[in-house]
Amino acid sequence: MRYALLGDIHANLDAFQVVLEDAKKEKVTHYACVGDLVGYNPNPKECIDIVRDMNMPCVKGNHDEYASVDDDCIGFRPMAAEAIRWTREQLAAEDKKYLKSLKFVRYVENFTIVHATLDMPQKWGYVMDKLAAAASFSYQNTAVCFFGHTHVPLAFVRDSVVKGGTYEMIHIEPGKKYFINVGSVGQPRDGNPMAGYAIYDLVTNTVTLRRLEYNIKAVQKKIFEAGLPERCATRLEIGK
Ligand code: ZN
Repeated sequence: MRYALLGDIHANLDAFQVVLEDAKKEKVTHYACVGDLVGYNPNPKECIDIVRDMNMPCVKGNHDEYASVDDDCIGFRPMAAEAIRWTREQLAAEDKKYLKSLKFVRYVENFTIVHATLDMPQKWGYVMDKLAAAASFSYQNTAVCFFGHTHVPLAFVRDSVVKGGTYEMIHIEPGKKYFINVGSVGQPRDGNPMAGYAIYDLVTNTVTLRRLEYNIKAVQKKIFEAGLPERCATRLEIGK
C-alpha cells in the first residue's frame, strides 16, 4: 500500500495535475489530503472536483473554512482575504457544502491527517519548530501524523526528545512518533518553487518527499486574467 499525502493545493490545478501524474508513475495506490484545496490560485472548483471525485480522505484547511462561509476574513492578510472573496464567487453551493463538511482531524489506515496542529486544529497554528510540534505530539494517538498549513516540508520526530528538520526520506521506526509536513502542491514557501507532496509506503515504512516542476507561467497568466492579486502570481516562481 502506497499513500500519496498531499495538501495546500490552493486551486493550483496545473501543479495538482503534475502531482497526480507523478503519483501514478510512482505506483501510489491511495490518496489523502491535508486540506486547503482553495485560495490564492485560479482553479478552486476544478481542484475540489478532483479531490471529491477521487473520494480521497481530506481534512479542512483554513482557506476551505473561509471559502465555505460568508464571514469577514478575520485574521487573513489583505491578499489572502481578497483571494478568498474571489474564490467564494467561483464556487457552487454544493462545493461550499463539501468544504464545510470536511473534518479537522481524520484517521486513515494507521495514521492521522490534520491541516494545522492536533492540539488545537481549529486555531490554525503554524508548526515550524520543536516547541509547536511537541504541543501537537501530546494529542497524537498514531505513530505517524501528516500535516500542512506552513507550506514548508519539515518533519518532527518524538523519541526521548523532539527533533525536527528538513527531509527527503524518513524511515518510520517503532516506538517513535512522527509529525510530518508534506509540503504544498500549489504554493510552496520553502524557497523552492517546485510542487511538493509525500509518499508513505506502508510496506517499507518510508516517507519520501517528492518535488516536481510544473508550468508556473501558465498559472500566473490565469491569475492575472482572473484579476487575483498580483503577488499570488509572483510568489509562485520564488517559492515564498
Ligand atoms: Zn495553505
